[in-house]
Amino acid sequence: MTLYVLRRTPDGVAVVLTSPYLSVVPRCLVPLPMLHQHVHAPFTGTFTHSRREFLASVAAVTASALLPGSRLPALTPRLGSKPELIDVHHHILPPVYLALARDRIIAQGQGYLPATVLQWTPDTTLAEMDRMGVSTAIVSISTPGVWFGDVDADRRLARECNQYAASLVRNHPGRFGFFAAVPLPDTEGSLREIAHALDVLEADGIGLMTSYGDRWPGDPTFAPVFEELNRRSAVVYVHPTGPHCCRELIPSVPYVMTELPHDTTRAITSLLFAGAFARFRNIRFIFSHAGGTLPMVAGRIARQGKAIPELAAKVPNGVEYELKRLYYEIAGSANRPAIAALTNLVPTSQILFGSDYPWGRIATTADAMAQAGFSAADIRAVGRDNALALFARLKSHDGHRNP
Ligand SMILES: [Zn+2]
Repeated sequence: MTLYVLRRTPDGVAVVLTSPYLSVVPRCLVPLPMLHQHVHAPFTGTFTHSRREFLASVAAVTASALLPGSRLPALTPRLGSKPELIDVHHHILPPVYLALARDRIIAQGQGYLPATVLQWTPDTTLAEMDRMGVSTAIVSISTPGVWFGDVDADRRLARECNQYAASLVRNHPGRFGFFAAVPLPDTEGSLREIAHALDVLEADGIGLMTSYGDRWPGDPTFAPVFEELNRRSAVVYVHPTGPHCCRELIPSVPYVMTELPHDTTRAITSLLFAGAFARFRNIRFIFSHAGGTLPMVAGRIARQGKAIPELAAKVPNGVEYELKRLYYEIAGSANRPAIAALTNLVPTSQILFGSDYPWGRIATTADAMAQAGFSAADIRAVGRDNALALFARLKSHDGHRNP
């Protein structure tokens, strides 16, 4: 058996880079769509095959580029320089959700909504995961969430979305987990849904938004929800949204461009100075997009928070201590400035892989990690191991998927 490495190049072809048989096998240039049709593995991976199998595979892949539709026996992926990824920022659009929220989703896109969003199905998401080497996606409902102002209807919507997510997990063992949606700012409905989602549907955590209307998560009215999440030692994934205050600030610029990352900073600051991070110590919080703008303003928040006694009293261990304990996924933020700021703020153990599919492309983050300043060991930790440490349930599938 011999090792081979396949790698993506900027011009969009896969190249067999290394093999003891390069003297007899020319470099193999294959269009990526054709390769993905046959090889269910990351762009960069290592494959073990005998020389004869390898030569046959190369010949077949090359031939298939000329004869679309022909099939090639799948190669067996093994962990190489890139892990099988666990994607903690990955969305679903259950039919019941799309039926109710379609117009809001389109409006929120402000003319820039990727076609993949409204075309989402379990099959499209699984195909994209397979193409990009994502073994497991922890799925969630994206902004605008499930609260549209009707208590009964929104409680029902949250329940149906969560049941849909649970069936996805059940029907595709090892491929999915989910953060359950809750109808905040309806705290009573949210408490009921938390109980049902964690006790009955076995959700992997709870998904929240960075704000509800013009209230951020540290608002005292939300405290009972965080008390319950703390009692249950829940993982809480916080997704950005646009608060009402800030959707028309720059009319020519979609607010999702700047306001979503700012709102993550607002949410973290709100929880921080409500004393929530110190008080609800058992909650494992995950924030999106490398913390939004937080890493750039963390020093300012720490300095001024220390100088104001009423705020300092809410953060007895200091701002930096609390920010270093949070988790941050990096969907769409795998670039050097963002990663440099984040990795100077928190240890690598707190950083997770996310894609924001179908709003974002998995490749946007997955392919950029190596160029964003992460070492190979960091990529392994960020891409997979940190998530395995956070979601014990996934470990039972780890051996199955990575013998
Ligand atoms: Zn998202």
